[in-house]
Amino acid sequence: MIVYKTCLNDLNEALLACNRRFANNITFRTCIKKTKNAGTYNVRLDVRSSSANGAKQDVITGRHIHAACWHVHGVFIEELLKRGCIISSMHNKLTTHADNWKNEERLRHGVVVLASDMCECERQA
Ligand SMILES: [Zn+2]
Repeated sequence: MIVYKTCLNDLNEALLACNRRFANNITFRTCIKKTKNAGTYNVRLDVRSSSANGAKQDVITGRHIHAACWHVHGVFIEELLKRGCIISSMHNKLTTHADNWKNEERLRHGVVVLASDMCECERQA
């Protein structure tokens, strides 16, 4: 995702919010300052362990995926929105709480699943 109107402090605080919620399992895969635009970063979240909290899971096969789930992204973006940042994901621009928690359908092995179901978060809750 691209984060506008931000700084390293915002991003680290948002990461900290994720780590409080997801048992310290969240890290940056990428956190690169865009040199041309001040206050703009290219960010990708990742998990330390794919079998721990906040990791994505293939709902059909049950296989754990080495990537951060929908809930992790939600918490991260929520924290940034609170700080007045603007986030641009692959699909859309996120400026509000409602944009952030929009639940999208994804196609996995020919089956439509909700993005929020592609992990164990709600099954653990
Ligand atoms: Zn989740």
